[in-house]
Amino acid sequence: MAVALGAGCGEVRTNALPAAHREVTMEKIVKTDAEWKAQLTPEQYRVTRGKGTEPAFCGTMHLSKKPGIYACVCCGLEIFSSTNKFESGTGWPSFYQPIAAERLTEHKDNSYGMERTEILCARCDAHLGHVFDDGPPPTGKRYCLNGVALTFLPAGPGD
Ligand SMILES: [Zn+2]
Repeated sequence: MAVALGAGCGEVRTNALPAAHREVTMEKIVKTDAEWKAQLTPEQYRVTRGKGTEPAFCGTMHLSKKPGIYACVCCGLEIFSSTNKFESGTGWPSFYQPIAAERLTEHKDNSYGMERTEILCARCDAHLGHVFDDGPPPTGKRYCLNGVALTFLPAGPGD
């Protein structure tokens, strides 16, 4: 299937946010490594708490166009909406903006000899992926996510 970058996904809504845009508690969630380990699968733990990267094209989340919300797999904070998702061709789920900027923490990552900006869950510091400056309009940002760091919450009928 050919995907024209920047062509939009058909139903582009203005920044109307789904019902998920409700008040969230941004109180920090702090757990010990052992607690995270008990809660997460080994792969989720490796990526979110150990700053790992899942192989590209693993899973199908990057292709999904289902309406819904992508939440932090560690604490459930709703961070991205399918409304802001785009097909980046990278094999990782990609978004051009989060539901709200304060739900992410950015931090410079100079590992592997590359200068990148890491994105973390603002509430529990889970490593989610990286943000790049080569995304589509309107933001020009590309939030490149590890699918394993996210839980997809489908938009229910009538939600
Ligand atoms: Zn979190």
